[in-house]
Amino acid sequence: FEELKVNQVVFSYEPDTKKVLNQLSLTVPKGEKLAILGKSGAGKSTLGRMIRGDLLPQSGSITLNEVPVQQLGEDISQWVGVINQSPHLFNTSVLNNVRLGNPSATDEEVIKTLYQVGLGKMIEQLPDGFHTVVEEAGGRFSGGEQQRIALARILLQNTPVVLLDEPTVGLDPVTEQTLLDTLFDALEGKTIIWITHHLQGVDQMDHVVFIEDGQVAIKGTPHKLLENN
Ligand code: ADP
Ligand code: ADP
Repeated sequence: FEELKVNQVVFSYEPDTKKVLNQLSLTVPKGEKLAILGKSGAGKSTLGRMIRGDLLPQSGSITLNEVPVQQLGEDISQWVGVINQSPHLFNTSVLNNVRLGNPSATDEEVIKTLYQVGLGKMIEQLPDGFHTVVEEAGGRFSGGEQQRIALARILLQNTPVVLLDEPTVGLDPVTEQTLLDTLFDALEGKTIIWITHHLQGVDQMDHVVFIEDGQVAIKGTPHKLLENN
């Protein structure tokens, strides 16, 4: 992976309605930790969906190493791992849930990632250990723990780019900060695109862009942005 490029992207959900993204451009080089900020409804999630190829630009392009994401098709999952607001877990064991990131991983490798995200010890001590079933509604796992399971999956998937779309939404501020610390530790060295609607944790990023009126209104270092607010 060398760079992800969003080039003059235009998008609206319905024809003749206000454009959600209006000639938005953005370059994310290898290793960059970027926060995408903006008010609710600014188009952050829309941009996220486009980066992972779920929505296509109506004009302009999104490219990974100069290849348009729509050409990558399913291969996009080898490049970009995603953690969303809801962790997208399945009604099967923790092991199986994490192994979705790499079906050929051994139990040992899966368990290692669970330790990496700070869940190893806790899950090991459950009566069914790593075979404990993750109920779709969460069951015995809290919101933060579910996101850690999702993170373990992404670590196993081992993509160069990780897109985080408000992974801490709904968590209390302390749980939020510890989850963010775990995320940024575990993903160290990867290219991170983190969509967020508030400033907590943004100082841990290299750059921040602020989306407004479908465009990048501000781009800078967190230091500079926080200074001006
Ligand atoms: P953000 O993530 O910054 O809160 P979104 O990308 O979710 O913003 O939404 C941008 C705008 O597009 C909002 O006005 C939202 O209501 C609208 N929108 C989002 N998803 C859809 C959809 N599936 N159909 C129609 N409008 C949508
Ligand atoms: P997010 O910002 O994470 O997409 P939202 O609450 O804005 O969360 O949207 C939740 C779901 O509703 C998404 O699938 C989005 O596409 C859809 N949605 C959001 N706004 C609209 C809208 N104005 N019209 C239709 N669908 C929408």
